[in-house]
Amino acid sequence: MHKYIAKLEEKLQHNVKYTQFSFELIKPQHLEFQAGQYVSLKVSNKGERRSYSICSTPDNQHQFDLILDLSPGGLGSQFLQQLEFGEEVEVLAPMGQFLVPEDLPADHLVFVATGSGIAPFKAMIEDQLRNKQDQRQITLHWGMRHPEDLFWLDEWEKLDETFINFHFHPVLSQAPPAWTLCRGRVIDCLSIHARPANAAYFLCGNQTMIADVSRLLIGQGVGKELILTEKFY
Ligand SMILES: Cc1cc2nc3c(=O)[nH]c(=O)nc-3n(C[C@H](O)[C@H](O)[C@H](O)COP(=O)(O)OP(=O)(O)OC[C@H]3O[C@@H](n4cnc5c(N)ncnc54)[C@H](O)[C@@H]3O)c2cc1C
Repeated sequence: MHKYIAKLEEKLQHNVKYTQFSFELIKPQHLEFQAGQYVSLKVSNKGERRSYSICSTPDNQHQFDLILDLSPGGLGSQFLQQLEFGEEVEVLAPMGQFLVPEDLPADHLVFVATGSGIAPFKAMIEDQLRNKQDQRQITLHWGMRHPEDLFWLDEWEKLDETFINFHFHPVLSQAPPAWTLCRGRVIDCLSIHARPANAAYFLCGNQTMIADVSRLLIGQGVGKELILTEKFY
């Protein structure tokens, strides 16, 4: 893990809640990381920090992308909200061990996210499919409240079309009547789908979802070593 200086290159507001930030590395100019890792961003002059998962894939070492839920409104959210194009930030990177292990004894990778917990999965799923040509079944369950909260839908659909082993299941807790896909919490979606044989699970997002889904899976006989988690808060 090293200190990096990066500058804000692009800010893309997906909707009222989620904004994507692209940073170009200045010093050093290359960042070697693995899909699933995060950066620790300095968000105040006092040196306070917040963690943000990298959502871009590791084959691009000159920049990294973050997807931010700015609604918590604390120090990190305010810092990023006010950041202007070209402004420099300081990060410690790469951090974390939330990775797809090379020797994972599983035939099916199931990713379960709530909210911005989708960030590491964007990198991990694209890396497995595009860069590592993983032929195993890969399923993504993503829980949000409203349809307008969802983003990257074109990207997920394109992956779904390109890779027959990828399956995308958005889940809405406050779905409108016309919504034909899963509704409720992600755990409700997992409960109605038949549990795949020999699967490993990656859970990322809020603590409650991680605790509830872990309990469900362990109750169904999934080994603890096949449940990998990253808590955002
Ligand atoms: C390993 C790791 C990776 C992370 N990756 C991302 C990421 O990719 N994108 C992202 O948006 N966030 C991510 N987070 C969360 C992020 O680090 C901050 O906690 C979050 O942005 C809130 O920071 P803040 O300073 O704005 O609010 P704080 O001052 O820390 O908190 C303000 C209030 O909001 C609540 N809160 C804190 N975090 C959240 C949250 N995520 N959602 C809802 N309420 C919250 C707190 O309980 C508190 O009441 C990650 C956290 C960890 C530990």
